[in-house]
Amino acid sequence: RGKKAFIAGVADDQGFGWAIAKCLAEAGAEISLGVWVPALNIFETSFRRGKFDESRRLSNGSLMEFAHIYPMDAVFDTMDDVPADVKDNKRYAGNEGWTVSECAAKVAKDWGKIDILVHSLANGPEVQKPLLETSRRGYLAAMSASSYSFVSLLQRFGPLMNEGGAVISLTYVAADRVIPGYGGGMSSAKAALESDTKVLAYEAGRKYSVRVNTISAGPLGSRAAKAIGFIDDMIRYSYENAPIQKELAATEVGAVATFLCSPLASAVTGQTVYVDNGLSIMGLAG
Ligand code: NAD
Repeated sequence: RGKKAFIAGVADDQGFGWAIAKCLAEAGAEISLGVWVPALNIFETSFRRGKFDESRRLSNGSLMEFAHIYPMDAVFDTMDDVPADVKDNKRYAGNEGWTVSECAAKVAKDWGKIDILVHSLANGPEVQKPLLETSRRGYLAAMSASSYSFVSLLQRFGPLMNEGGAVISLTYVAADRVIPGYGGGMSSAKAALESDTKVLAYEAGRKYSVRVNTISAGPLGSRAAKAIGFIDDMIRYSYENAPIQKELAATEVGAVATFLCSPLASAVTGQTVYVDNGLSIMGLAG
């Protein structure tokens, strides 16, 4: 039977989440998505109007389908956490059951057990500010959306996972080395995510017999990356200085994600796997 994959953090066809969905679909998996609530309407409209049809095309000619598309906001665990201004926001008011716990409950009801859980989301409202100028609120928001969201997802979706399942997230080298421009506590959030990958690999490995890994991806001109501002410079820097001098394709990350979620990687857990044309090994610009 095909494996079932829940992917949180897809809102267009430009980012890593979409590419992972596509590679998993190519490998025969069924896919459901968790889409950030404020982005859901435009995603569904674009989808219906065929805007993604070209990117949905699989190698056998068919179009990638999604079993379910759920609204989700990964900074809220239960309805009790949601402040009134969000509840009343018109982009949220039309949707229901989008906190992490409610979303997991819907997936359990509609779909039963899953095999693969993908976290491909991040947000740092002060990403353009150096860490030295970041507010407490901005820092904690980055941690909440980009790090705790992963803990929360695994907490709520872990019980739905079949033994032998796999969980992955996306991280960035700024966790480990200084990347000027990746501010607002986003470097801190990625450092937490990488450390949590190890602890959660141990805990969820023992509790659910699932593996937990993270992919440290090279620069990609996704919507989130464009919001940071320096993505074109990063892509150029990588092109000039990485061992492999080519632009990173999102599908190259999708392929490694598919490998990590497959039985080929049955002994790989707790790892940060670099998919970055090798840029991270360089000590000096080449
Ligand atoms: P993207 O814009 O395709 O994905 C980010 C997604 O996060 C969006 O769909 C957005 O709607 C969603 N999101 C934001 N806040 C959310 C919330 N509170 N709840 C639910 N969803 C929320 O961009 P991407 O670059 O593909 O990002 C995916 C992952 O890859 C992120 O973790 C990012 O940090 C990581 N990454 C990106 C790069 C890069 O250069 N683009 C490099 C390394 C790692």
